[in-house]
Amino acid sequence: DSVNFRKWETSKVKTTCPHCGTGCQVNLLVKNNVIVGAEPANGPANKNMLCVKGKFASYKFVASGDRLQTPLIKREGKFEEASWDEALELVSKKFKYLKNNYGPDSLAGFSCSRSTNEDNFIFEKMVRTAFGSNNVDNCARVCHSASVHGLANTLGSGAMTNTIEDITTDVDVIMLVGSNPTEAHPVIGLQIRQAVQNGTKLIVVDPRKIDLVKNSELHLQVKAGTNVAFANGIMNVILNEGLEDEKFIQERTEGYEELKELVADYTPDVVAKICEIEEEDLIRAARLYANAKKAPIIYCLGVTEHSTGTKGVMSMSNMAMLVGKLGRPGCGVNPLRGQNNVQGACDMGCSPFDFPDYQKVANEKIRQKFKKAWQTPLSSNTGMTSTQVLPAATKGDVKGLYIFGEDPVVTDPDVSHVRDALKKLDFLVVQELFMTETAKYADVVLPGAAFAEKDGTFTNTERRIQRIRKAVDAPGAAREDYKVFCDIASKMGYPMHYEHPSEIMDEIAYLVPNFAGVNYKRLKQENGLQWPCKSLDDPGTPIMHVGEFARGKGLFKAIPYQPAQELPDNKYPYLMSTGRMLYHYNTRSMTGRTPGINEISNKSYIEVNAESATQLGINHGDKVKVSSRRGSIETFAKVGDRVREDSVFMTFHFQDGNVNEITNAVYDDIAIIPEYKVCAVSIEPL
Ligand code: SF4
Repeated sequence: DSVNFRKWETSKVKTTCPHCGTGCQVNLLVKNNVIVGAEPANGPANKNMLCVKGKFASYKFVASGDRLQTPLIKREGKFEEASWDEALELVSKKFKYLKNNYGPDSLAGFSCSRSTNEDNFIFEKMVRTAFGSNNVDNCARVCHSASVHGLANTLGSGAMTNTIEDITTDVDVIMLVGSNPTEAHPVIGLQIRQAVQNGTKLIVVDPRKIDLVKNSELHLQVKAGTNVAFANGIMNVILNEGLEDEKFIQERTEGYEELKELVADYTPDVVAKICEIEEEDLIRAARLYANAKKAPIIYCLGVTEHSTGTKGVMSMSNMAMLVGKLGRPGCGVNPLRGQNNVQGACDMGCSPFDFPDYQKVANEKIRQKFKKAWQTPLSSNTGMTSTQVLPAATKGDVKGLYIFGEDPVVTDPDVSHVRDALKKLDFLVVQELFMTETAKYADVVLPGAAFAEKDGTFTNTERRIQRIRKAVDAPGAAREDYKVFCDIASKMGYPMHYEHPSEIMDEIAYLVPNFAGVNYKRLKQENGLQWPCKSLDDPGTPIMHVGEFARGKGLFKAIPYQPAQELPDNKYPYLMSTGRMLYHYNTRSMTGRTPGINEISNKSYIEVNAESATQLGINHGDKVKVSSRRGSIETFAKVGDRVREDSVFMTFHFQDGNVNEITNAVYDDIAIIPEYKVCAVSIEPL
């Protein structure tokens, strides 16, 4: 794992990139306890490639001078340095007091999708045992919770069905829906581009002219928020032309008749009007997809972050099942997960509804199993999602909150409500690497360890569990995160102790059927393992749902189209979407501390169509004011043809002009995911 190539000087530590869910393998170059560089390592997902974030932004933040190095306690409005003993004593005493006086459900925890499986497992264990509550969640709630719910509902498992290599090698057609991999998952974007060079036909379904449109056979520039109508239209054409897979439908699915009846109404002319695309393009896309032997659907947040996000995901399953493109190589339904370990945070049970491995909290037998293993009573109360905890804090129902590695003051929709909620709390603990916007509201801030300062595992978007390895020591008094959770749980009366993260993985393997064959020895020998991996001689599962769906039969869901909840009007005439850009990652806590990257890109912008810009009197680079019903922000105009005339697009990375000041806090009613992808705004020159 750690090879000295110039013994007395520099060593290489093989680990996993801490940015997106691709899970690229990277060698950190370490000299005198400092990371001095990064180079690609060969991994199944990246084949010796890294993007600009993996190459340059995967280590400089680790040694940044503004790392938190000691616990901080707020006294009379000011943070003061404290010892770990003092801070842990205060945290456990306060949480115990709130639990005893207001009940366990007055406490809640948000876990970190960028941290390890082991940290996430122990965090949710602490909340369920020491806090006694199921109020635990992670940031998948605001990005891919719709995938977890939608795919589990239709197929039986809320994860990518195939592997990255499988869906980008020797496939005839790729249907890319609401996903911009060139910027959000660059190494996957590159593999899609290579597939096109080798003959794959690419269909892009996206309101924006993303870079991959240049490589596409067909671009359906649908209006944002119309994915369900689009999918119903594709299925209408497939059925109308007899392109469905009758045998697959009869043998492996249920719910077909209801689906067939519903999609009969979504004729190409109807759908072309709703999506504002050409009828012929819809028909051509349906034929290309249905007639191809190998054709994966790849999708991302353009499908999930809607008030109909779960329905959009179920529509992806519907399309694939209708043509029998599941449980086969080069096919499937493939969500690209955004953060390095957001798949793992979900797998590890950082969800109010699920213990690890999506074992239902509501199921008495499952609760008994965990109660026996953890030797403590467990709550049967339905927990709250993170998107429900914050309004509950505003109402005074949630009084104590532990936020591990998340920054909702920047990332949640309509953030003024997040600030109000945090101010209302009796006690807020934030465990972080840096003094974030959210940490500023905390009563206690605890310094955690970066990915390069600890051992553990991440699970990438294709369900591959891969090792991360300690390369350098954490600065000052910063500690490995799971150890802090263990200490707090112990002080609250639930003793927890592990010598090494490998012991935590052994406990996970004992409790999680899909991880039963996973241990650190195998992860090293076999270069990672893809769950389900149900025994020590199970090699893992590259393609899911072969022969049988995880739920038995695949379930078709007949889903009528519903428009987004806020549409443009005279006052707010533009439809705004948000998303990621190549050079930055989420709140820029890592990429923003990488000097070279900051020189290329260091301010927010809004993409405006050239026609609209002319009408508004705006030139490229001008400062503009963007307003919604929630407020206004200032940013810079990027004029071009990437967005439709009726639409604009903003990245979500920047504090100057934080787009989440004006996004709409309305939610999908199944996954409770926010509608980041559609809200109505106005723009004016400044
Ligand atoms: Fe890291 Fe994602 Fe880039 Fe790979 S594609 S190097 S995982 S940011």
